[in-house]
Amino acid sequence: MFYKPDMMDALADYDAARYVIFGVPFDATSSYRPGSRWAPDAMRKASANFETYNEFFDIDFEDLLIHDAGNLEPYSSVDETLEELHLAVKPIARDGKIPIMLGGEHSLTYPCVKACAEEADEDIGFVVMDAHFDLREEYGGIRNSHACVSRHVRDDITDTYVTIGVRSGPKEEWVYAKENGLKYYTSDDVREMGIKQVIAEVKEYLGCKKIYLSLDMDALDPAYAPGLGTPEPFGLTDIDVREIIRALAPISVGFDVVEIAPEYDNGISALLGTKLLREFIAAHAASER
Ligand code: MN
Ligand code: MN
Repeated sequence: MFYKPDMMDALADYDAARYVIFGVPFDATSSYRPGSRWAPDAMRKASANFETYNEFFDIDFEDLLIHDAGNLEPYSSVDETLEELHLAVKPIARDGKIPIMLGGEHSLTYPCVKACAEEADEDIGFVVMDAHFDLREEYGGIRNSHACVSRHVRDDITDTYVTIGVRSGPKEEWVYAKENGLKYYTSDDVREMGIKQVIAEVKEYLGCKKIYLSLDMDALDPAYAPGLGTPEPFGLTDIDVREIIRALAPISVGFDVVEIAPEYDNGISALLGTKLLREFIAAHAASER
């Protein structure tokens, strides 16, 4: 028998599935250290560690309809990869399923948000957890760099945008964020206000809008997730991020976990990313009971 690293408990076929997991092993625009191409399979492997039962939500993954579609074969160029990804996510969103991407780098989020926004009956917002603003128009001559994803989502798809955990960016990005009245919470804001207060404000800002939720793992402090493309100290805790996901999963039409680079640690970043992904699914499924 050959070993095929399926995501544990992703046993439904596509037609029956409510949640469609897929990996995109692509990290070509990584600016500091690449390696997120290895994350999708590392996360599938890590998933074998977890029990199927989630006590907090009283959800058993064995009762959920989850499909693992495997990995999208990336192109060498970022633009072609994003185009192909957009085409792949459109039907998932159109079929009323929840697409869940295992990155790969953060640029991959853009076509997922776009596909979900195009297929939604109403305007959707974008909530991202990230150490970085990702508000540059281009980076290193590449428009679709991982460092630009939030800028393009805001410019092209939705003004309803919140970023949580931000603590790094050139001065121009901070000025841009302030001048444009962007809704952002630094990791220090989270520590000072408390995550519950931050979530309450975010929910009030979103009103009854649905969102696409994106987790750039570097939102977390490198103490929790050291296996990253661009680690940044003084970050969010694992519990902060879990709280955000638990609170926002029920209003999400799509989700991703990006920027884990498993070669730089002993496996804990992929483990945590996978657990957070399972919290997303459990929280979403509990809201539909
Ligand atoms: Mn990012
Ligand atoms: Mn980041």
